Amino acid sequence: MGATWIHGIGGSPIYEIAREIKSLESDQPWECMDDFLDDPNPITIAENGYVLSPYIVDPVSNLFNSLMDFAKGKKKSILGGIESDICVNGNVSVGSFLEKGLESYRKLLSRKSGNENGEWDKESLVESIFAMHENAQRTYSAANDLHKLGYLAESEWVMFPGEEITIAKGYSSIIESLASALPSGVIQLGKKVNDIEWQPECVTSENKHGYGSRPVKIHFLDGTSMSADHVIVTVSLGVLKAGVINKANDSVRFGFSPTLPSHKIEAITRLGYGVVNKLFLKLSPDFDLDRFPFLQMVFHKSDHFKNPKIPWWIRKTASLSPIYEKSRVLLSWFAGEEALKLESLPDEVILDDVSTTISSFLSQKDYNGNVKFEKVLKSGWGSDPLFMGSYSYIAVGSSSDDIDTLAEPLPNTKVLESTKSGSPLQILFAGEATHRTHYSTTHGAYISGLREANRLLEHYHCIDV
Ligand SMILES: Cc1cc2nc3c(=O)[nH]c(=O)nc-3n(C[C@H](O)[C@H](O)[C@H](O)COP(=O)(O)OP(=O)(O)OC[C@H]3O[C@@H](n4cnc5c(N)ncnc54)[C@H](O)[C@@H]3O)c2cc1C
Repeated sequence: MGATWIHGIGGSPIYEIAREIKSLESDQPWECMDDFLDDPNPITIAENGYVLSPYIVDPVSNLFNSLMDFAKGKKKSILGGIESDICVNGNVSVGSFLEKGLESYRKLLSRKSGNENGEWDKESLVESIFAMHENAQRTYSAANDLHKLGYLAESEWVMFPGEEITIAKGYSSIIESLASALPSGVIQLGKKVNDIEWQPECVTSENKHGYGSRPVKIHFLDGTSMSADHVIVTVSLGVLKAGVINKANDSVRFGFSPTLPSHKIEAITRLGYGVVNKLFLKLSPDFDLDRFPFLQMVFHKSDHFKNPKIPWWIRKTASLSPIYEKSRVLLSWFAGEEALKLESLPDEVILDDVSTTISSFLSQKDYNGNVKFEKVLKSGWGSDPLFMGSYSYIAVGSSSDDIDTLAEPLPNTKVLESTKSGSPLQILFAGEATHRTHYSTTHGAYISGLREANRLLEHYHCIDV
């Protein structure tokens, strides 16, 4: 329902753990166990069933990839040499950068060929294929709108080199392995924290909570509490944001007493955190086809040609594909508003709407009749009060510095130095949103946990550990 991939095996600590515990092999089939998704030629179909030739799709896909490689700093030029036409400065978004890239490409195109008439002319095809890639990019970044995704930070995000692979025994095997190193009973599940009481100023014996010398007190939703010397907070940025804007929720309310310092609150507010959901669909047995294709869907942007039977929440879905070749389970990704809408819909509505959409896409291919599904499974990260979304991104108006600000422990060491009193390292912050270059990933979350554990080891001079 959540993480599946190791994003680059070269140097990834998650890959090392998975390899060590033999989680990369299984007797059971698993998601993306073959190279099916690396298929360079998925079937791309335009709304109402027109199968698009790679001659039309590939140049646009290459343009999009070239623009994103340029944005990420992987390449110094863009296909067609259009980089000089795209002026990028200040607080620009990935969305507006892509818009300029497409515009320059269109100018090149119009010099080369005229438009055709009909439902799909060349220009609207180019625009819609480009939009398909933009929608895939929304799921990679979790930004609902690419105009909110900061351009400048794109080149700071680092991916490990090497192949991207899935874990045969699933990500839970990694968690289980990490947890098995701890003495039993140390991990307490189902304890929801709703308040972390800390001592930003000088701690004297009077203003402690009467729990020995420990400066932090954690209050749980069930009314119990626990005192601590140090707390490493790893709740999602979504939960932190909800706490900051005091979005009261009856099942979980998470906050700090006193509230976090303003520079932390500002960083939390500025950083982006979005919703990405997965939708799994199982084909019904009467869909007797050897294999369902890796289907890329190109939707009309013009209202005039839109098929009214296709609901808005499917119109930004880039693809639908089996989880491995010949699997009857298909997977599609949703981001932003569409992902939230998906969470709210009953299974029957999802099955109906997706069947109608896919049948219309496959109407001119050799598939017998309507596509029917028998089962649906979807994630619901946006409405889960323990997550409030999926992963972080650098929004326009924020920067990677906000990530570093979020990662700073409390109380601020400068305050402690100036008052020459108080307990240091009461609240530490880890989790994907606190890793400057690997945010949004499991390895980012893991590495940030090591960082904070090491901070405490150093504090206690446990240099040999
Ligand atoms: C659909 C999807 C697909 C993804 N795919 C990948 C992928 O393929 N590869 C990859 O590397 N990453 C992927 N990610 C991202 C990855 O899952 C996250 O970056 C990672 O899980 C973040 O870990 P974390 O520990 O920072 O936070 P989280 O996983 O958000 O964990 C936070 C924890 O805090 C707990 N919590 C929250 N509030 C409270 C409270 N009040 N009291 C007590 N506990 C609380 C939650 O229960 C949760 O256990 C994906 C994410 C999603 C949603």
